[in-house]
Amino acid sequence: MSVDLVKVIDVTSADGLAGKVWLYEDSLRIHVGKEVYVYDLEGRPIFIYYNDRLFVRGLSGEFVEKKWLSVRPHRRFLRRLRDESEKRNIIEYAHWRLGTILNSIEEDDVLRLTDKIFAMNYWRLELDADKFRKIYLPISILPPDQYLSLVLQPIIGCPYNKCSFCTFYRDRRFRIRSPDEFREHVAMVREFLGEGVKMRRKIFLADANALIAKTDLLIEYMNITRELLNHKSIEGFYAFTDYFHKPKSLKDLVRLRENGLKRVYIGLESGSKKVLEILNKPGLSSEAIDYVKLFKRAGINVGVIVLIGAGGREYYREHVDKTIEVLNKMPLDNRDIIYMSRLKIREESPYRYLALKYGITSLTMEEMDSQIAEITRGLNFQHPNTPVIAEYDIDEFVY
Ligand code: SF4
Repeated sequence: MSVDLVKVIDVTSADGLAGKVWLYEDSLRIHVGKEVYVYDLEGRPIFIYYNDRLFVRGLSGEFVEKKWLSVRPHRRFLRRLRDESEKRNIIEYAHWRLGTILNSIEEDDVLRLTDKIFAMNYWRLELDADKFRKIYLPISILPPDQYLSLVLQPIIGCPYNKCSFCTFYRDRRFRIRSPDEFREHVAMVREFLGEGVKMRRKIFLADANALIAKTDLLIEYMNITRELLNHKSIEGFYAFTDYFHKPKSLKDLVRLRENGLKRVYIGLESGSKKVLEILNKPGLSSEAIDYVKLFKRAGINVGVIVLIGAGGREYYREHVDKTIEVLNKMPLDNRDIIYMSRLKIREESPYRYLALKYGITSLTMEEMDSQIAEITRGLNFQHPNTPVIAEYDIDEFVY
C-alpha cells in the first residue's frame, strides 16, 4: 500500500543548496543536498542523515547510527548512542538545519507541522520517550521489515524462553493479556502516538510468539486494534511464531488470514538437529517445514530466520548442508523472506557455556560471509518467483 503524497515544495537552504520538502499523508520528508530529515506527524524525528551519517531514532528515545563503510566487503558501521549530550546535539543540529532550509515555506499545512517539529526539542522528546516506556515493556527485537510497524503487546515474553543464544525476553514472565487489558494497552498506545500513528501501517503483535494465543482471542485482539486505532490504512497484522508449540490447524490459519494476518516470522535457525541441540531449541526441522507449508496453504506469508554462525567451525558444514536441505523443502515464493541473522553472543548468553561444552569455535565475520554465500548458492526454490534473501542484524534494531 503506497502512501499518498500531499504536496512537494522546492526549497533552497540559506547556504544555497537546492532541495525538496515532501509532505506525505503520514510524514514530512526534507531533502537538501545529500541531507535527509524525516519526521512523523507529531514532529518526532525518525531518520536524520547528514555528513554521510544516518541516525535512526526509536519511539523509546534510543538512537542508532548507521554508516556504510567503503572498504570491502561493504560492512556497516553500527553504533548505539549512549551519551545524552550527543543525542541532544543531533536533535538540535537538525532543528537548526531545518531552520535554514524551511525559511521560505509559506504553505500553512507544512508550517503547522514544522511548528510541531521545532516544539519537539530534546526535553519534549525525552518526556515522550518516558511515556513510551510506561506503556510498553521493552520491544526487544523485530524483523527488519517491521521496524516502522505499530507494535502492540498482547503477549508478554516468550512461552519457551530457553534458547541458549537468545536473551531477548529473560527480563519478563510469559503471560497472555486479557482482552480488557489489551484494550487498555491499545488505547494508551493510540493516545501516545497521536498523529504519528499514520506512519505505522503494519501492526506487529509482539512479543515472541503471538500465535500461542487461541485463535478466537487473536481475532479479538485484531478487532480491538481496528476499533481503537480507527485508521483506514492498517496494512495487516504480523507476528513471530515458533514451530515447536502445538501448531494451529489450517482452518484456524485461514481464519487468521481472513482477519488480516499477513506474515509470520519463524526462527528456523538451522536445519541441523545437532546445531539445534547446541542452541537448546526444541522441535524438529521437519515440523518447521510442515508448519511453513500450512501457512502457505492458508495464504499467510512467512519470514524464515537462519542463524549464521550457529555451531561454529565444528558444525559449519552440517549447518550449511542441513539448512539448505530444509529451506529447499519449504514452498517459499516472492512474498516470503529468508533472513540471514549473524549469531551475536551476548555476555549473559548461555550459548557461551554450551559452546565450551561442545568445543565450538566462533566463526569470523569472513567465515559468516562465506556461510551466507554457501547457503544462498544451495537454494533451489520450487516457485519461479523466489523469496527475498536479506541480512538481519540485531544490533541495528531500534524501536
Ligand atoms: S529464540 Fe524465540 S523461542 Fe527461543 S527463547 Fe528466543 S524468543 Fe523464545
